[in-house]
Amino acid sequence: MPGKNISAAAPLLPTEVTLREELRADVQKLAGEIGERNMLHYAELNAAADFIEDSFSRAGLRPRRDSYEIHGQVCHNIEAEIRGAKPEIILIGAHYDSVLGSPGANDNGSGVAATLALARRFSGKQTEHTLRFVAFVNEEPPYFISGEMGSLIYAKKCKARGDKISAMISLETIGYFSDVPDSQIYPSRVLGAFYPKIGNFIGFVGNLRSQPLLRRVIGLFREHAKVPSEGAALPWFVPGVSWSDQWSFWRNGYPGIMVTDTAPFRYPYYHSANDTPDKLDYDRFALVVSGVQKVIEDLDKL
Ligand SMILES: [Zn+2]
Repeated sequence: MPGKNISAAAPLLPTEVTLREELRADVQKLAGEIGERNMLHYAELNAAADFIEDSFSRAGLRPRRDSYEIHGQVCHNIEAEIRGAKPEIILIGAHYDSVLGSPGANDNGSGVAATLALARRFSGKQTEHTLRFVAFVNEEPPYFISGEMGSLIYAKKCKARGDKISAMISLETIGYFSDVPDSQIYPSRVLGAFYPKIGNFIGFVGNLRSQPLLRRVIGLFREHAKVPSEGAALPWFVPGVSWSDQWSFWRNGYPGIMVTDTAPFRYPYYHSANDTPDKLDYDRFALVVSGVQKVIEDLDKL
């Protein structure tokens, strides 16, 4: 679903400036202050979990830990729920671990900061759907697509309980944009022929079964958003399509999409020590999150 190209990002409204500064502060906390956080940087992983839990609490929510052990070390997914009138759940999630050797500002400090900002904005509101905000542990290798991946453990429990998740939205590396020609590459020539070569848009990706959800989300996003967007429903095996927590929900029969700046197909600092807070474009990042907020508001009414 290639979109119309909106060339320059519109100026930010005062509410979007507030949002931008929240995002900047939380990325700084996770990637600047805490830094690399994973099972080999376990104290930092726990510091991030504590920070996320505390952020949900300060937003007026009651976070819960979904914990499990890897070789005797406990790790935690952190969730916070806003109970709606209906049992159907819209789940917004992002992984909070960073890959080995990286402070993970964009991957995925950006997704976590966005999840927290969205939770603050919906806290205290009466919604139709139940909204669930989840920070997942252990998305990065060696746990990715393994039985120890945080979101896979979480999604399996959802299925076992019979949770009715009508939409899973995975926020994965969403803060880097470029206006330079050929700044955007693709995992295949075919895709490259249809989609823009300038990395100034936000991407929405789903598997084939999630295509109806993908179309709905991108349609709603385009009604409101001030950043260009592109969407594609692709087979799960196209490189990049499965590369985040939505995969775990697909595996358990739930529709899910990933919101992403496309990470390795655009971001020069992907999975490196240079994935630091200064690399993000906080203006456009804020416009993406504010667009996603409107998407959730509208999905909630459907
Ligand atoms: Zn990631």
